[in-house]
Amino acid sequence: MRRWLRAAAIALASLALVAKPVMAQQILRDAETEAFMADMSGPLVSAAGMEPRNVQVLVLNDPEINAFVAGGQYVWVHSGLIAAADNVNQLQGVVAHELGHIEGGHIIRSSEGMKAATGITLLSLVLGAAAIAAGGAEAGMGILGMGQQAAMGKFLAFSRAQESSADLAGARYLSKAGLSGKGSLEFFKKLQNQEYRLAIPQEDSYGRTHPLSGERINVLREVYTVDPAWDRPVDPKLEARFERIKAKLVGFVSEPTQTLIKYPESDQSLPAHYARAYAWHKSAYPDKAIAEVNALLAAQPHDPYFLELKGQVLLESGRPADAIPPLREAVQLTQQPLIATMLGHALIATEDDKNFAEAEQVLRNAVARDRENPFAWYQLGVVYERRGDTPRAALATAERYALMGQDQMALRSADAAMQALKPGTVDYLRAQDIAMVSRAAIEQKRKKK
Ligand SMILES: [Zn+2]
Repeated sequence: MRRWLRAAAIALASLALVAKPVMAQQILRDAETEAFMADMSGPLVSAAGMEPRNVQVLVLNDPEINAFVAGGQYVWVHSGLIAAADNVNQLQGVVAHELGHIEGGHIIRSSEGMKAATGITLLSLVLGAAAIAAGGAEAGMGILGMGQQAAMGKFLAFSRAQESSADLAGARYLSKAGLSGKGSLEFFKKLQNQEYRLAIPQEDSYGRTHPLSGERINVLREVYTVDPAWDRPVDPKLEARFERIKAKLVGFVSEPTQTLIKYPESDQSLPAHYARAYAWHKSAYPDKAIAEVNALLAAQPHDPYFLELKGQVLLESGRPADAIPPLREAVQLTQQPLIATMLGHALIATEDDKNFAEAEQVLRNAVARDRENPFAWYQLGVVYERRGDTPRAALATAERYALMGQDQMALRSADAAMQALKPGTVDYLRAQDIAMVSRAAIEQKRKKK
């Protein structure tokens, strides 16, 4: 166990040393954030005539205030935009506008620079490092099915006509969803503000990719103010959830000292405890982190995400056995695959044979619900190996490499799995599929050369 943690710590250290590659962005994955984004955007997506389950709002780790659409039905929001938004209604205003670009089929101009998303980060330190050690850093493109457009590595900057049409479409969605346009106006005005222009480099900012003229704002104001929803207050429950995910994102991505300025210890609100828990955890003060999490759990003892964080801090500070009960409860409450992956990780990290059967079951459930998480496949491969199930360990490895777009390795592992699995079984057929797809991909790459 110690050995494992040390390896993870080294991976983490080397991650910090290798400066974030230029042009790279990390996808931040977090169960609570993803659930919130789905609920916050759902009414707008429906209003735009799309299926909420087909449109996903995802978060990129980037301090610039920006958002964009890419890969068909993905709205990407920078962590910097969430940190800059004052309330959920402002975020909804931004998402409504972006959905307008999707519905309008606005073409992405490839000349405008956008950084390719090259990594995936779970909102967890050691998990993230271990995922990268396991090859997750290269996984970004394959993950989440971003598809060809994103693979081009270029995003937007639309014409003024397209901006206006996205504005009006966004206003329609807000109206149909019964949401006020106040947040949208506030946010645009905030971006126009001189203070922001000075504080934030304009290179990739919202202000640059979405030119904010006073005229645009005036048109929007006229449309919004006559809408029946104009004076409708924000849903307090959704607003509370927004404050939480904003706090945890700030705590996760910011320098701990910055987090403690934004959320000083005098602030005893739930979001402040949340943000500080991440800050202390990042600074390797597990006791202080646990104290903040315990304050959260004292207020809401069965909140799955507070339980998840408690498990995470314990696991990542070398106490996997203690991490199991809170993680187990969080999984029971949510059935959330990202949390289940962490529970599986904790069970394996105990290095206790008695925990491996549960680890296998938990991880199998996790990949059944979310196949696009290479770290879960990695953990599943480990537990199969520990249990002496070499064929399925090979299959899990094949799944992981296939997700990461490493076709040669995927083919090799799938072949190994097929040699050992019973022909005709579900697992055998799956290995055969991976081998076939990988072989075709290798063939195609060879032809291109
Ligand atoms: Zn736009």
